[in-house]
Amino acid sequence: MCGALRASDAGKKAVLMGWVNRRRDLGSIIFIDLRDRTGVTQVVFNRENSAAHDKAEQLRNEFVIAVIGTVKLRDKDTVNKNIATGEVELIVEELRILNDSKQLPFLPGDTVLPNEEMRLKYRYIDLRRDAMQFNIETRHKVSKAIRDYLSSQGFFEIETPFMTRSTPEGARDYLVPSRVQPGSFYALPQSPQMFKQILMISGFDKYFQIVRCFRDEDFRADRQAEFTQIDLEMTYPRVETVWGVVEGFLTAAFKAAGVDIKTPFPRMSYDEAIRKYGNDKPDMRLPAMVDIREALTPEELEELTTKFRMRKEFPVQLIRIPHAGDISGTERRTIGTYGAYNHVQGPAFVQLMTDPKRFAKDYAALSEKVAAFAKVEADDLWLLAGAANKPENAAVMDQDVQHFCEKCGFLRLDLAQKYASKHKAFEKIGDVAKDYRFLWVSDFPMFDWEKEEKAWMPAHHPFTTLHEEDFAKLEANIDSARDPKSPLGEIRALAYDVVLNGTELGSGSIRIHRQDVQRKIFQALGMSDEEAKARFGFFLEALEYGTPPHGGIALGLDRIVMILTGAESLREVIPFPKTARAVDLMVDAPSPATEKQLKELGLLIKKAT
Ligand code: ASP
Repeated sequence: MCGALRASDAGKKAVLMGWVNRRRDLGSIIFIDLRDRTGVTQVVFNRENSAAHDKAEQLRNEFVIAVIGTVKLRDKDTVNKNIATGEVELIVEELRILNDSKQLPFLPGDTVLPNEEMRLKYRYIDLRRDAMQFNIETRHKVSKAIRDYLSSQGFFEIETPFMTRSTPEGARDYLVPSRVQPGSFYALPQSPQMFKQILMISGFDKYFQIVRCFRDEDFRADRQAEFTQIDLEMTYPRVETVWGVVEGFLTAAFKAAGVDIKTPFPRMSYDEAIRKYGNDKPDMRLPAMVDIREALTPEELEELTTKFRMRKEFPVQLIRIPHAGDISGTERRTIGTYGAYNHVQGPAFVQLMTDPKRFAKDYAALSEKVAAFAKVEADDLWLLAGAANKPENAAVMDQDVQHFCEKCGFLRLDLAQKYASKHKAFEKIGDVAKDYRFLWVSDFPMFDWEKEEKAWMPAHHPFTTLHEEDFAKLEANIDSARDPKSPLGEIRALAYDVVLNGTELGSGSIRIHRQDVQRKIFQALGMSDEEAKARFGFFLEALEYGTPPHGGIALGLDRIVMILTGAESLREVIPFPKTARAVDLMVDAPSPATEKQLKELGLLIKKAT
């Protein structure tokens, strides 16, 4: 291979095959950098060997050649320390041109990349680039480490069908029309959810699969219509059992890419994440927000909230970005307008105190107390965010507090992004300074109120089970699927996410294993018995035949590889990705079907209006 030869090989005969990466013709001598997946070797054609030398004159970029020659040590001053084969060169005796190449739209060795459209159209050339070879190799190593680890823990890798029925994971399905049953469609799986649960019913005990999933979502930056999950399921787990397995395979996966991570990961409830980070996927590289009310006496709280027109029933959040305090007055004033430009009706309107210096001047004791409580350092950027006073003092609902905290969370991340360069500990994911902060977030709400649907929907998916203590609440509110004020919103699920540096890597849950409970969840979701039977009849039936308790999780492989390679987008780590509009530019898909195909499928295309 082109990356194999070393100084110790000097004097040996060698055969190399590969692409012409670069050609330098000095007349009497021609140098070729010959490239394959493993590296580059300098190959030399001397005029003394006129047959080979003359042929070498025809060589152009990306021709595919075979050479036979003798390995020779390079002169001291021509040693290339940047490549592994840099101490040697191959003096060619015989050249065979295995294939030529048309002039290329861009070269694998180009330092300036063409636009992404071009790279995707000519993906086979793009993939020859070192960076892409590295990304795909890392992907292989990571997948293999995960496979090996899970196999060693007694998991079986089992395939599940692609042509199947709809599996709800919150997106639209891709449908495949059936020819033999015109008018009927398969759905491509949004996840193997029901199949993996059926495998638990079937006695396989521990299942995993590195599997493609398909989700038709409206335009969302950096999502792929088809993507790869590390999907697993096991019987009789506690939440912590699943977490242990994930920590195990992530340790192996990161190690395969040369990174050591610490386990167990810290854990946090959804409620705590929202209160302290305003976000269900907190970036732990930044300090949490601190509700400073606890540090104050009732009089001090009154004084502070009156002065800044904040509501004292809401958290007063101190947001701090370490080492970013030296921003200009203009920048500070821009932050001050945050509450205004992010105005929303209701108490989520954020009221800010953005000038700690002035605050300290006017309220020295108060300012000192607050800063000490939140462990503010002298060079930190910090401010206070409270909920704006409203004339009518409406009852404070949990949801309002949540919205308010979420707004503060956005502000926290926004400030971190803007002033990140001033904050050494906060690097963008993928940056050189690797600070991997994993986290488990658990106890998510069971149901989310969907404004568009005007109904409670599963926050995870409808097969997720709930906390035992919340069962009475479910029963008491089972027919309130369309009531936005229903206490259904307070029910906690045995669901969890694994989060890394503010990115969700995966989600899972302990599942419902009893048919009566599953029916109740469908009922709470406003689904009639008939509808439940039509959509999930086979599954409800399977649950009746001795289903053991089970649970699992799925993590995005593409995202993990993206983080490990430091790539800027998922498209950099997927060999043949699609654009944001789900188009494959290389093969030009999707594309219209022929009249004959449509006829066979019994389909008629309505002209777009
Ligand atoms: N089906 C997954 C699980 O709960 C979640 C997902 O696909 O996002 O295991």
